[in-house]
Amino acid sequence: MSPPSSQLRGRVVVAAVAIGAFAAATAGQTLKAGESSSDDIAPLADAKNASAQLGGGIGGQSSSAAAPEVLTVAKMSTAPVEAQKIASTNQIVQARVAAAAAARAEAERPKFVRPAEGRFTSGFGARWGGSHLGIDIANSIGTPIYAAADGVVIEAGPASGFGLWVRIQHDDGTITVYGHMQDYSVSEGERVKAGEQIARIGNRGQSTGPHLHFEVWDEGTRKINPRTWLLDHGVVI
Ligand SMILES: [Zn+2]
Repeated sequence: MSPPSSQLRGRVVVAAVAIGAFAAATAGQTLKAGESSSDDIAPLADAKNASAQLGGGIGGQSSSAAAPEVLTVAKMSTAPVEAQKIASTNQIVQARVAAAAAARAEAERPKFVRPAEGRFTSGFGARWGGSHLGIDIANSIGTPIYAAADGVVIEAGPASGFGLWVRIQHDDGTITVYGHMQDYSVSEGERVKAGEQIARIGNRGQSTGPHLHFEVWDEGTRKINPRTWLLDHGVVI
């Protein structure tokens, strides 16, 4: 709080003197009480006059304004403090509301999602006399590809057979792999959330049409059926 202006200091002095005058007048009233019971109001009127005179003399206030000035001084000195307290409290409440909303949104958001919309065209296992160690989801070039779960991008770039791939390591050590994409929009070391777009469907590498090839490496090494893994986490493909 800034120091009071000289004018304000003057008013405070007026107030203090006025209160002193009133106290003196009241004391006088007590002494007079035994003498007369009919003029109880008179000492109060004297006090008003006294304070008015003092006010006019010290603070340069008009006699009619001197008495209400006491209330004005009280308001001026406390109102900014109270307003600051209320504003500060409102800010704290606002911050708590925002934090609660963010916590609820975080709790309610999906932790696992299907990595792309489209047709399920090929499952995990034997295919064409070999092994297909992922699943395929076909859709047009440019269709968004999403991180299947929260994790960190550990690789994004060219890969033999995949054309381009992105690999994401999740918090439990599982790695998901996304292949054949047209392009990608994440980089190594970047943290991503489930459902965050990381790339777009393409037809690069050993691919017979635009689709996402999606793999899941259990504990970061063993390729497991992505469809089962997604199902275990509530996602149906
Ligand atoms: Zn595939």
